Amino acid sequence: MYIGKAKNIKQRVRNHFRTAKRHMLENLYYLDFKLTGTDLLASIIEADEIKKFWPPYNVAQKFPRNTFTLTTYTNQKDELKLAIKRSKSPELSPLFGSQYNTRVYLESWVQEKKLCPRLSGLQFKCLNKKCKCANIKKHNKLLEKVAEEMRNYLPSFCLIDKGRTSQEKSILWINEGKMKGYAYTPELPEMESGTLDGLIEPMKEHPETAAIIGKYLAEYMTSSLQHKQYIAL
Ligand SMILES: [Zn+2]
Repeated sequence: MYIGKAKNIKQRVRNHFRTAKRHMLENLYYLDFKLTGTDLLASIIEADEIKKFWPPYNVAQKFPRNTFTLTTYTNQKDELKLAIKRSKSPELSPLFGSQYNTRVYLESWVQEKKLCPRLSGLQFKCLNKKCKCANIKKHNKLLEKVAEEMRNYLPSFCLIDKGRTSQEKSILWINEGKMKGYAYTPELPEMESGTLDGLIEPMKEHPETAAIIGKYLAEYMTSSLQHKQYIAL
């Protein structure tokens, strides 16, 4: 009837008892919990279970989350431009849970491919006199090529973090831009898909979980990886 996550589950449950509506308490006869190791895993498992069981009291989560991807369009001046688009299916990038993360991801491509910041939708004006946008036809061609590359670029990696106990690690497996599943393990195995397959608790991705991992995809691809351990596959 209700699924939730908390850092301090005892306190959260106590709070629910204090603030919950009467009919919720009257219908309650069993409580259970699951340790997860990290806030990220807790969020993913929570979103996944809500999607599976659709509990009547998880009202807030019943509204689908916004997810974003990147797309191209041609404007009235025949300029091909990149843009962030609200969408439930990925186009030129994996799905992200916020415009901010989509932008971070976009910035890394613009920088690497030396695209015009204006035609990439990052700036209103282009201040660089030597920019490739001086020749629109050329820039359009370049962007077409980059867009195709973006469409086919789907990273595969594992995110290693704390487990449920201090002797354990958690592994979150992202395969071609999508979450494949997670595992807890006392020792890190060979990070190959063959070995991981047998270990992992498989998960189906949906917009809610895609939105959660989008942040880590953006982080992974812009390599601002400070506290987390990412292993490329
Ligand atoms: Zn430019």
